[in-house]
Amino acid sequence: MKNLIDGRWVDSSNGKVIDDLNPSTGMKIDTFPAATKEDVSTAIDAAESTFWKWNELGSKERGRIIRKAGDLIQAKRKELENLLVSECGKIRPQAQEEVNGVLDQIYYYANFERKITGDLVEGDTHTKKIFQYKVPRGVVVALTPWNFPAAMVARKLAPALMTGNSVVLKPSSDTPLIAEWIVRKFQEAGVPDGVLNMVTGKGSEIGDFIVSHKKVALVTLTGSTKTGQRIIEKSSANMSKLMLELGGKAPFIVWNDADIEKALTTLVWAKFWNAGQSCIAAERLYLHEDIASKFEEKFLAMTKGLKVGDPETSQMGPLINLEAQKSMEEVVSSSEKENLKTLAGGKKPDLKGNFSNGYFFEPTLIGDVPQKSPIFQDEIFGPVLGIHKVNDWEETIKLANDSQFGLASYLFTEDNRRILQANEAIRFGELYVNMPGPESSQGYHTGFRMTGLAGEGSKYGITEYLQIKNVYVDYSKDKLKLGSIPGF
Ligand code: NAP
Repeated sequence: MKNLIDGRWVDSSNGKVIDDLNPSTGMKIDTFPAATKEDVSTAIDAAESTFWKWNELGSKERGRIIRKAGDLIQAKRKELENLLVSECGKIRPQAQEEVNGVLDQIYYYANFERKITGDLVEGDTHTKKIFQYKVPRGVVVALTPWNFPAAMVARKLAPALMTGNSVVLKPSSDTPLIAEWIVRKFQEAGVPDGVLNMVTGKGSEIGDFIVSHKKVALVTLTGSTKTGQRIIEKSSANMSKLMLELGGKAPFIVWNDADIEKALTTLVWAKFWNAGQSCIAAERLYLHEDIASKFEEKFLAMTKGLKVGDPETSQMGPLINLEAQKSMEEVVSSSEKENLKTLAGGKKPDLKGNFSNGYFFEPTLIGDVPQKSPIFQDEIFGPVLGIHKVNDWEETIKLANDSQFGLASYLFTEDNRRILQANEAIRFGELYVNMPGPESSQGYHTGFRMTGLAGEGSKYGITEYLQIKNVYVDYSKDKLKLGSIPGF
C-alpha cells in the first residue's frame, strides 16, 4: 500500500515499511509505508496550500463530492467488508454493519451542504452590525483507531471536508489498508489534490511531529486517554483546537424491575460486540441482588454459548494484536491474585489450523468484583466483564459515576422515576436506557472526565470543525473625532 501526499500515491521517502497482520491468523497480509517527518511536512504543506480553494468551491459542490464518495463506497462495499474481516478480524455481520455506519456518516455530513449558517448581530447602535461567520479552521490532522477503522475514518473525513477544511489522516498502524481503501474513494469522487492526504507510520515515532506542526489548526483523535494526554502536551506548540474521543468504562445497571430478557440480550451485545473492543463496551455490571442469581445463571449460559473463532462463521472474532491478547491474560491473572472467581472463560480458546495463531480470547466473566479493583477502574478493552451486586439506588449511581472515564452508560429499569433521576445524576456523555448503542450520527458523541475534549456527530460535532469569526461594520456617515471613541 501507499501514502497519499499532494494527490500522489507514494512510498515513504526512505523506503521503510511496516508489516500489516491478519489478527485471526497472525499472518502478514501486506506492508505499509513508515512515513518520515519530511513526508509528513510535505503532506501538511499540501493541505495548507489547498484548503482555501476547497473552501471557495462552496458547500453545495463539496456536499456533492462527499456524497459521491459514499456512492462509490456503496458500489464496492464488499471489498471494504472483506478488509474489515481480514485486517481487523471483524466477524462478517459486524463488518457489514460497519460499512452501513460508514455510509450513514458520509451521507449525514454531506447533507450539511448549504446548512452552515452564521449570525447577523445588532451592534451597540443601529448602524453598527456584527457578522459572525463560521469559517473552516484550516489543516485538520485526523488520528484514527483500529477498533472501528472504517467508521472512525468516515466520521472524521466527512465533517472536516464538508466544512471546507483540508485533512492529513494518520490511521492506526493496525488497520492502514482499510483507511487507504476509503481515502481512494474520496479521491476518486473528486476531492482535489492536496486537500486530502494520508500518511502511515507509528504514532509513537511521527505523532509528536504531526500534532505540534505550526500549520496544523485542529487535531481530532479517537484513541486512548494516554495518547490524548500526550497530544494535549505536544499541541501546546501550535495551540491547535483539540477534539479528543478517548477511553470508556461503561457501567451497565440492571435494576430489580428490569425487563430481564432485554437486558441480557443487550449485555451480550454491549460486552462482546467487536470482542469487547469498543469505547462504549459494558465494562462494569451492577446487578440488583433480587435478580442477580437468575440473571447471572442465564448470562453465564449465553456467554459460554458464544462461538469464538473464524470471523466468517463465529460470533466473536479475535483481539487486534498479540499485545491485546496478552493484556486479557494479565487482567485474568491479576484478578485471580485478588482471589476473584472466574465464572466463565479466562483463557485463549483452543482453535485449530491457522486460527491457532490468532489473537483470540474466550468471553470471560469475573464474579463479585470490588469497586476499587483494577477490573472496575481501568479500561479493559476486551471480552472480560466484572460483576458487582447492588441494592441501594443512590449508592449504585455513585458507584457508576466513580470512574475516571465518562463516555457511555446503560440502565435497565421499568421505573420512570428512576430513569428521570438517572438522566440528571449519571455523569456520562451517553446514557442508554433499556436499549443498546451504538451512538447515532445525529447524537453528539462526547464524554466527561478523562474521556476527552469536545465531541463528534450532530450540529454540535460539525461546529467543532469551524472557527467563529466576527466582522464589525458601521454604515453611518458620522464623523469620528479623536478622543470621542467610547470604551466599553
Ligand atoms: P491509540 O493507541 O491511542 O491510537 C489511536 C491513534 O493515535 C492511532 O492512529 C495511533 O497510531 C495514534 N497515536 C499513537 N500515539 C500517538 C502520538 N504520540 N501522537 C499522535 N498519534 C498517536 O488507541 P487505539 O489503541 O488505536 O484505540 C483504542 C482506544 O481508543 C481505546 O482507549 C478506546 O476506548 C478508544 N476509543 C474511543 C472512542 C470514542 O469515541 N471515545 C471510539 C473508539 C475507540 P499507531 O496505531 O501508529 O500507534
